[in-house]
Amino acid sequence: MKKEVQSRQEYTLLVEEMIEHDRHYYDECKPKISDREYDRLMHELLRVEKEYPEWTLPQSPTQRVSEGPTKGFEQKAHLSPMLSLANTYSEEEFSDWIKRVDKRLESKKVNFCCELKIDGTAVSLYYEKGELVHALTRGNGRKGDDVTRNIKTISLVPLKLKGKNIPDKMEIRGEVFLSLATFRTLNEQREKEGLEPFANPRNAAAGSLKLLDPRIVAKRKLNLICYGVAARPSPESTQFDIFHFLKGTGLPVCKSDYILRAESLEEVLQFAEKIQEKREDLAYEIDGIVVKVDDLHQHDILGVAGKRPRYAVAYKFAAEEAETRINEIVIQVGRSGVLTPVAELEPVHLAGSTISRATLHNADEIARKDIRVGDWVTIEKGGDVIPKVVKVDLKKRAKASVPWKMPKNCPICKTEVVNLEGEVAFRCPNPKCEGQRMRRIFYFASKPAMDIDNMGERVVEQLIETGLVSRPSDIYTLDEAALSELEGFKEKSIQNLLESIDASRNCTLARFIMGLGIKFVGAETAELLADEAGDLDRLLEMDEDTLAQIDGIGDKTAHAISEYLDDEENLKEIERLLSHGVSPQKKAKKKVSGHPFAGKSFVLTGGLEHFTRSEASDLIKERGGRVSGSVSKKTDYVLVGEDPGSKYEKAKELGVTTITEAQFRKLLD
Ligand code: NAD
Repeated sequence: MKKEVQSRQEYTLLVEEMIEHDRHYYDECKPKISDREYDRLMHELLRVEKEYPEWTLPQSPTQRVSEGPTKGFEQKAHLSPMLSLANTYSEEEFSDWIKRVDKRLESKKVNFCCELKIDGTAVSLYYEKGELVHALTRGNGRKGDDVTRNIKTISLVPLKLKGKNIPDKMEIRGEVFLSLATFRTLNEQREKEGLEPFANPRNAAAGSLKLLDPRIVAKRKLNLICYGVAARPSPESTQFDIFHFLKGTGLPVCKSDYILRAESLEEVLQFAEKIQEKREDLAYEIDGIVVKVDDLHQHDILGVAGKRPRYAVAYKFAAEEAETRINEIVIQVGRSGVLTPVAELEPVHLAGSTISRATLHNADEIARKDIRVGDWVTIEKGGDVIPKVVKVDLKKRAKASVPWKMPKNCPICKTEVVNLEGEVAFRCPNPKCEGQRMRRIFYFASKPAMDIDNMGERVVEQLIETGLVSRPSDIYTLDEAALSELEGFKEKSIQNLLESIDASRNCTLARFIMGLGIKFVGAETAELLADEAGDLDRLLEMDEDTLAQIDGIGDKTAHAISEYLDDEENLKEIERLLSHGVSPQKKAKKKVSGHPFAGKSFVLTGGLEHFTRSEASDLIKERGGRVSGSVSKKTDYVLVGEDPGSKYEKAKELGVTTITEAQFRKLLD
């Protein structure tokens, strides 16, 4: 629907179109249009309904929140409805909202509470006598999916609230989200596994919250920030007090720098400006600020219109989009040979930086959007650092343009490329490809791995071209004389690089594992392996079965790790790294002293009556213990549930202490 709605029939069609978009967005977490386009349609819908109120359909997305129930989850009712927010996009629209509020409150003094609009998915936590009873998604606003088990994977969520004066029954409102760093790691992992990456952190968070297996949810590392209380506790009388109340109960809330009690429109606008400037530095995505009337009694007077409260409004930031031209599509060779097409753009200013490249992900994505060299395109900066192409302006397309095709040969080593069955990606199959070698070394030195400062892409390229480095361990043989051969390297830069290299010798085991560049092993899996193995020797001893038993490591990853560790060449390279003084250390864990679980390792076997495995694991970890997938002499306790498996036999054989679920529960407290 592009143009203005002019008839009742067109209005009905628009309602149906919007319901369909809601289904893609909320239920499948895969929107078909951008939020900006959706908001434009919503604007039109609101305009028509205002002009012809008699046309308004009860199922119109202006009237109700349209998230359907998810299969596999129980539905539960909210104590009070979970609503949406009205949107404003400009100073003018926003000050109109303030005028409407003033008018309804008959010029009583109004203060505002300004908060971040975190771009995630809404959740409601229900506490009874201070204990978490259940957690629900927003659903249709009256009933939501019971996602308690998934919410419990968020370690910040208190099972019991702190403090006094906690009301007997209380519903807390908050936003579940993924930090940008976690989102990037998750998408990298998905791409490596040939899965479709999530469009943005919001969809990734919403999709993760509705997964049926809490163990997978735990790996997604969801996060939560709470901002409200429904069925509110007296004597809190302002939204600002609610913030402090929530903080006092131990619930996660926003940093106090990001919340402001404002007395005037000017103060709100200043806050919006400050946040917009800080947006780039935040660890998570926001799509604006939320401005709420501060006095909760005034909320009651203002009430609700459709699905939107009149006492709050979203002041959304302008979408970060720009139009530019694709000059070229080049191929980047990844460290495992994956070929990624990248658009080289006519440089354009977007969200505080000049953009000259955008990822095109893979050949399928290019074909789906029909992106061609020479096209004028809209680019968007989402959660990813690298911007992406959202759409092509077909009207500006040159007549002579031709569809883009993946080259038949690797652009670096010219080996014929392959497209393995079941994979979206095309790969260069030559393990000796210079392009792959360069990426492997660059990856080894990168921030999430060995974190060697001053060793960017250009430096790695030079080190390879001059023959100084051909594998990661060569980095540790570099000295002043060798580096002085590099173009542009002066005393100071040589010194800096040597110092960074030296500092990386004392790395954590997780960084070392990550630096090895094992297929499917990103930061999250590397942490898991380091935690599980404890030291490098133990890691090298682990076979495929042992690896596969680690909670959080799937069969495919276990196979890739064991294949890597079985390769003589890889083992020699590890030895070389160690002989050059690289000394991976297990990260010192936060000591939780005083609890019998602190510092102890546990293995779980059999079914538990009161907890899922992941809940029991979390309880152990919260108390300073470790959970491992396999029994060894080093295991302190094996927690034995119903129908225990071979781990129980192994524990008996090795003389490891076993405990029952009842003993475990006693020890917990
Ligand atoms: P919303 O996201 O615009 O605002 C309401 C939500 O904001 C609340 O439910 C809450 O989850 C969240 N929020 C974050 N921080 C908050 C805070 N501090 N205080 C209060 N709430 C806070 O509304 P919505 O109904 O969740 O979604 C509507 C929006 O979603 C649309 O404007 C559009 O951008 C997008 N959408 C897009 C599509 C699509 O196809 N692209 C489809 C449906 C919806």
